[in-house]
Amino acid sequence: MILESITVTNFRNYNSASISLSKSVNVFLGENAQGKTNLLEAIYVLAMAKSHRTSNDKELIKWDENYAKIEGRLKKKNGAVPLELTISKKGKKARVNHLEQKKLSQYVGACNVVMFAPEDLNLVKGSPSHRRRFIDMEMGQIQPVYMHVLNQYQKVLQQRNALLKDLARKKTKDSAMLDILTEQMIDLAAEVVIRRFRFIHLLKEWAFSIHSSITRGLETLNIEYQSSAADVLEDMDLSKIKVVYENTFERMKEKEIDRGVSLFGPHRDDLKFFVNDRDVQTFGSQGQQRTTALSLKLAEIELINSEVGEYPLLLLDDVLSELDDYRQTHLLHTFKEKVQTFVTTTNIDGIDHEMIQQAASFNVNQGQ
Ligand code: ATP
Ligand code: MG
Repeated sequence: MILESITVTNFRNYNSASISLSKSVNVFLGENAQGKTNLLEAIYVLAMAKSHRTSNDKELIKWDENYAKIEGRLKKKNGAVPLELTISKKGKKARVNHLEQKKLSQYVGACNVVMFAPEDLNLVKGSPSHRRRFIDMEMGQIQPVYMHVLNQYQKVLQQRNALLKDLARKKTKDSAMLDILTEQMIDLAAEVVIRRFRFIHLLKEWAFSIHSSITRGLETLNIEYQSSAADVLEDMDLSKIKVVYENTFERMKEKEIDRGVSLFGPHRDDLKFFVNDRDVQTFGSQGQQRTTALSLKLAEIELINSEVGEYPLLLLDDVLSELDDYRQTHLLHTFKEKVQTFVTTTNIDGIDHEMIQQAASFNVNQGQ
């Protein structure tokens, strides 16, 4: 898919800006704090209805304004898809083909994006919540039904946590309500986890071959999904997973009431990455960790293409200069012609020359 043009109004430090984009590489060039990342963020928000760097939508609205608007003309295999997202203090409104979408979960997925930014090192080095967010955001854009199930799970989880906290405070263990919520949680947890297993299974195959290619065959990357209920395993079917959860919750009931919180389920699961069979979070060098994060993002591009039938847009924020020449060339040339790419940089010297010559380049200066 190709984003042919984008218009932003009252978005971050932009009053109003409208640009026509190249279908290959677009470079946003400018000094610090001019609005380069803001533009990539606008593209990301147009696709995901959420920012990659804040969960507070109001921050996206230009100071002292009441709303922000992003409009984009997306071209897909089946034709043009105009997209429009308005963010106001009351919430968000999304339109596809000028038609308002009742649910944002229906809107997300019309445009697919993959963003790679310096913070993505957290995917490897950071806390498990970064990895869960990665899984959820990526699956959400290819499987709207996943988002729906996950939202339901989170609602039940909140209720169950509130109840457990209450039981812990009262020091009582008798609760019919807890049994009901546990049963609901098990059903939803199993639905979430079985989808995550499938996603990771596919992602892992792409990541393995990409990682091996960027490291010239020197490194193997393996990914493992680690369930907080240790006996929930990848090769189980839905009913088996439910049985295992039932046993875990039964066995750990007292501990959960004691602690006043739900200790098992997808909200506590994690991913582990192994380079040459060693845990890269613990033993990997900075470069190995960065390459692992890069391999994951590139794997996602291929996965989206294989699931959706079109390549996503690739957003690279300040990352090219951090990659060595070989990785940079690999990145830019693998997807040349296939993937529309958006790059921000303060200096073009650090970027592959051939690429710069073919790119459309935009000078970004104080929100213009
Ligand atoms: P760097 O090279 O340092 O990454 P950048 O060009 O990517 O810089 P941006 O992150 O796009 O910079 O931010 C540009 C400016 O936008 C910042 O100075 C910031 O203060 C400003 N800004 C952020 N949010 C808003 C907002 N809601 N309203 C107005 N200005 C904002
Ligand atoms: Mg920036």
